[in-house]
Amino acid sequence: MTADPVITEQAPTPTQLPATVRASLSPSRAADFKTCPLLYRFRSIDRLPERPTVEQARGTLVHAVLERLFDLPSGGRTPAAAGDLVAPQWDRLVTEQPELTGLFEGDGPLTSAEFLRSAAALLEGYFAVEDPRRLEPAERESLISAVVDDELLIRGYLDRLDVAPDGALRVVDYKTGGAPREAFEARALFQLKFYALVLWRTRGVVPRVLRLLYLRDAEVCDYTPDEEELTRFERTVVALWRAIEQATAARDFRPRPSRLCDWCNHQALCPSYGGTPPPFPEQPPTPDPLRDARSRPAPPGADE
Ligand code: SF4
Repeated sequence: MTADPVITEQAPTPTQLPATVRASLSPSRAADFKTCPLLYRFRSIDRLPERPTVEQARGTLVHAVLERLFDLPSGGRTPAAAGDLVAPQWDRLVTEQPELTGLFEGDGPLTSAEFLRSAAALLEGYFAVEDPRRLEPAERESLISAVVDDELLIRGYLDRLDVAPDGALRVVDYKTGGAPREAFEARALFQLKFYALVLWRTRGVVPRVLRLLYLRDAEVCDYTPDEEELTRFERTVVALWRAIEQATAARDFRPRPSRLCDWCNHQALCPSYGGTPPPFPEQPPTPDPLRDARSRPAPPGADE
């Protein structure tokens, strides 16, 4: 059964949620379970720490620059202006997350100067596929959410939402990773459909375009969803959530090895690699509707 959607332009606080809501799911965590149930457990139940990687840091930096770029008057959104934002945004991120400085200690693959240059190179890829002077995004880094099946809050952060004069919606997601695209495209599309479902359920409009911008390759991948597909997708999300509930009750999260294991932080604890998971927590953490919505649904260990 599908409930009437909760209309949430701004995501609700827990106290605003219908009393029937008892769980939440972000695209990241849903995609984790879909990719590998044990990965979901490590991240969402054991909540094991993951060391930041250069790729993740670069992705976060480029997303921050692109968000701030649209704060500038349209005529000023030039490649040079984006380049000027790189170092200040990196300084801000390091202040907020001091552990990022550790990325460049010792014999790492890059110096911090090389890292900043590599972020600037991705921004060149962005300008190769879009001219931000001709765009006025309706929303950036926007938290959106909806309730489905009466009990499940689905929520996540959009990179960007464009709204055409006729009301058509375009969801845009920036991809900055260097990993083989085919390994992760299904995961990226899953994320975009997740956002499309929330928008459809909250605004009554199916987004006309779901757009992936691959900055490293300077390529655009557009996808056009329809109602029928989103209805099926909604059933998939609810089924995933029920499977997560069953796995949690049975304490049974099995590894599902794939190419994505190469990006997993937790191979040492994974039975598929000779490891042993930690004891299952006696009291699994209570699902927190505010947690994880912000994390980016990228491959294990290579969030972009
Ligand atoms: S190494 Fe692979 S199979 Fe094991 S937890 Fe990570 S993603 Fe899953």
